[in-house]
Amino acid sequence: MKKIFKITLVLLNFAFINVINAQEIKVIDTDFSKGQLKNVQTINYYDLIKFHGHSCDGLLEGMQALQVGLKELYPDGIIDRTNTRVISKPSPCLTDAAIYITGGRYQYNSFYVSNDFEGLYIIQRIDNKKTIQVIRNKGVKPMVIDSLGNLAIEQKLSYEQLQDLRKLEEKYAQFLKATPPNKNFTAKEIKDYNWNPILKSDFIKTDIINKNKN
Ligand SMILES: [Zn+2]
Repeated sequence: MKKIFKITLVLLNFAFINVINAQEIKVIDTDFSKGQLKNVQTINYYDLIKFHGHSCDGLLEGMQALQVGLKELYPDGIIDRTNTRVISKPSPCLTDAAIYITGGRYQYNSFYVSNDFEGLYIIQRIDNKKTIQVIRNKGVKPMVIDSLGNLAIEQKLSYEQLQDLRKLEEKYAQFLKATPPNKNFTAKEIKDYNWNPILKSDFIKTDIINKNKN
């Protein structure tokens, strides 16, 4: 009897994590190549995974941070992907979440990458210039992930050590999935923000540099 109870708990927990995991965002776009702003769609974390290539803690961080920031710009909950621009930190996971969810693209002056600000993103509404900075709360991300991550970027970790890092990242991802985004990230309004795109193309795509390690 005890065993059945335990199994039920495990299954319930699994279901709960997957509900959270499939968090959704409503977006609005134009409805054809020369269309009008009518096409409302729901996108979820699994859509983002397909675009990015894998599920990871960085992608989840990106989605949660954007949810927190975009709520300030679109209180009705529908993100206008024709009216949003974003500055992202250079992580491949954060940048992919940014362009997919906000619709920002560098070639249309609605996306650029910079290390020169605090937090993960700066998001701006194009119509009223309201600008939001999104910062990860202190103590949310285990520091060991960044210290090992930096060694991985320098290609100083063995295959086994990379797997240990993966386990730490997966544990952090589970934590993110189980907590509401506003517990992990904070949105701050910036007044009179000067959108100043600097187009750089020499950031390192850190999620592929160990791809042949075995
Ligand atoms: Zn990633």
